[in-house]
Formats: sequence, C-alpha cells, structure tokens
Amino acid sequence: PSPLSGTIEVPELPDEVQYVAVQWVDVHGASKAKIMPRAAFPDACAPGGGAGFAAFANHGFARGPEHPEFLTVPDPSTLLQLPHRPEMAVVFGTVMDGDAVATCDARSILARVQAMAAERGLAPIAGMEPEFFLLRENESGTLVPYDALDVLDKPCYDLKALLRVSPVLTEIVGAMETLEWPVSALDHEDANGQYEINYMHADALTTADRFTLLRTIIADIADRHGAIATFMPKPLAGRTGSGGHVHMSAQADDGSNPFADDGDPRGLGLSRTAYSFIAGVLDHARALSALAMPTVNSYRRLYSSGGISGASWAPDAIVYGANNRTVMLRVPGSGRFENRAVDAACNPYLALAGMVAAGLDGVERGLDPGAPMTGMAQPLGVPTLPRTLAEALDVLELDTVMRDALGEEAISEFIAVKRAEWGSYMESVSAWEQNTYLRRT
Ligand code: GLU
Ligand code: MG
Ligand code: MG
Repeated sequence: PSPLSGTIEVPELPDEVQYVAVQWVDVHGASKAKIMPRAAFPDACAPGGGAGFAAFANHGFARGPEHPEFLTVPDPSTLLQLPHRPEMAVVFGTVMDGDAVATCDARSILARVQAMAAERGLAPIAGMEPEFFLLRENESGTLVPYDALDVLDKPCYDLKALLRVSPVLTEIVGAMETLEWPVSALDHEDANGQYEINYMHADALTTADRFTLLRTIIADIADRHGAIATFMPKPLAGRTGSGGHVHMSAQADDGSNPFADDGDPRGLGLSRTAYSFIAGVLDHARALSALAMPTVNSYRRLYSSGGISGASWAPDAIVYGANNRTVMLRVPGSGRFENRAVDAACNPYLALAGMVAAGLDGVERGLDPGAPMTGMAQPLGVPTLPRTLAEALDVLELDTVMRDALGEEAISEFIAVKRAEWGSYMESVSAWEQNTYLRRT
C-alpha cells in the first residue's frame, strides 16, 4: 500500500513489543525516529497519519523552520522487533511533505531509482559490507582499540583479537540471525580494533535498510559493552579506514541475472550489459564519490596509505579488474562486481541510488570499460577519485545524470549541506598545520 493511497494495514505486533520507532534517515543516513507506544501505533497507519517531524530539525530536507511538519508514513513490510531490545520494534517509512513524497527522502529516492532499473529488466541486487571500529577512551582520553592488549602490525584475521571482542560481535550476529539476515562471516579487519560483518545480498532497498539498521544495532550493542562503535571512514591516523563496499548484480523479470555470462571472452563471467553498467559507474565515479564517500574524513581513507600503494585496500585509481583489491571496481566472481569506492559512513540509499543511476547510464549509452586492469592499480595515467570532499561536490554539481535520477532539489540540498560541512572544516586549523607552518617562513 502506498502512503498516497490512504489506509495502511496495521501490522501485527509481537506480544512483547511495547513501542514502535517509526524511522527515517537524514541526508547523512543517520537514523531518526519518533517512538510510538504500542497503543498509538495504529493511528500512525491510519489515513492522514504518520510520525510528524520538523524537517528543519534534520540536515538535508530543504525546508525552513516555518514549513509545516513532515509525516513519516510507516512501510509495514519493514517492521521488525529488535532482538536485543524485545520491547522495541522499528519500522521504516516514506517521508511525506504534505500530499507529496518529500523530494529529499533518501529512501524514496532509492525506491524510485530501483523501480526505474527494474523497468529496464535490471532490478538491482546489492550486498553491503560494513567495516567498523570498536574503540574506547583510555585514562588520558585518547581513543584506542577496544581490544588493544597488543597492537599488531598486521592484525587482519587475528583470532586472539577476535576472541577478545567475541562477546560484542556474537551478540550482534545473534541479533542479525534472529532477524533472519543470513550472516556469512565476521572477521578482524586490517586495523587494530576494526571488524567486518558480512550478510546476504538482497534488493537494493532492503540492503540499504539493513545497512542502516545494522549501524544502529552495532552501536547500541557496543555501547552496552562500554565500546564506542564507529563507522567514520578513517578514525585513527596511520591505520586502514572503514569501507562500505557494495556488491552489485541484477535481476531480470524471469529471475535470471543479466550481469552473468559464462561465455565472457574476457574471462570474468560478465555479460555485455554488466560491462556497460561497470563502465557507467567508472564514468560517473568522481560525482558518485560525493554520495558514496560523503565526509571530509572519507578522503583520508583513500589518500593516506602512507607507504605501499594499494596496501590500505582503498582505491584511488578509477579502474576495474578481476579479483584484485587495489582496483576501484573488483570482479570477485562471475555475474557481479564490488564497488570499493564507498565508505562505511555513507548514506546507503543515496550511494546505491547514485550507483544504479550511473550504471544504467552506461547501459543506455552502450559504454565499454575496456580491458580489466591487471597488477597493482596505480593512480598514474588514469583518472583518479577526488582528493577532497570539496572536489567531489564540484563534480557532482555538474553531473546531469545524477541530478535527473536523484532529483534536482535532493542533489542541490545535498551539495548545500556538504559545502557547509566543508566550510566548517576549513575554519578549523589543525595541530599538524601549526606544527608544520608556524615558524617555517
Ligand atoms: N578497509 C578497506 C577499505 O577501506 C577494505 C578492506 C577489504 O578489502 O575488506 O576499503
Ligand atoms: Mg573488509
Ligand atoms: Mg569487500
């Protein structure tokens, strides 16, 4: 049922549920909600009902403080009970601005772009890989890895370190399994205190909802254990950052994957459609960066490996390749590709919508990405990702494909919010700058 059509069937609430958090996200992808007591929830589903909120009190809705309240109208198909807080259910909704869907509602933007792709027989199937740190403050107030008994040079996959945080991680994974999100693996990532949890792919909107909810669940459970969970792209100097890699394939009307082709002459198991889609994502990569790596801090993840090129596992060159973690778009197996130029702090709805729009443009124009890159991807002689958020925003502003697909107002508002963020960053002067320049000349 569409929020525009009036009545929504009130979903059955499990007995223990006393509250329902009706959720939306702001432009950053942060979860916002109004919590309704169980008895009040049916009213939110009645015609004209929903969770009212002041648009101006959140970043990125392009409305002033005088504007009438927005309403988030629940989408009952997304309702679920939080396993670690059984008295609480959460439900995502569609943000309404009067009688129309709010132009800047990221979830509605992705739903629209997803439907557009499905009409062309390319319903996007996505998996997202959240990487995150578990940190704590030490006695002197410095952030250190939560598990830091010893700081390893190569902590990736370290079993002892994993076991030390297993009370936190297994509680998170237990919650996901209760929610029937099949978890395939969890591991210790490349930085001390950094982890990743992998779960099954689904349609793009479901995956964005899960990514959003998972960030909330991880932070909430970590907090109960006295840990700070962060999805900030590069929280610790000198350590690998946190990606939010997106794996993408597609589904045709008959259920087959139009990205797969066993007879691929390039040997990657991809169809011509997949190559065109990939070429579209590469073509729009610099504009897409603003949506997929949307913070000042994001570009430190890409451009501060401080040693062996490619060894921070985050891309800088806009190239694709086979199972090679130094490229931006990696083809780990047939019928799909992984976009590594997405970080854990992104708004997943906007990142996925932008990626699908870029891919569709590639298909429409019949683009071909050329031969896959082999060996170490180097930012030499090939286009590179932006070096700063400001640069990414400038490119996004000129990208008419993004503007058309995500909407004029949504893109303009995104850029306005992010330019303000950049401006506030430029107002700050770091200790590094003072140390380096104070007495230099
Ligand atoms: N942490 C790396 C990044 O920033 C990715 C590591 C991996 O390949 O899983 O993207
Ligand atoms: Mg990883
Ligand atoms: Mg990955």
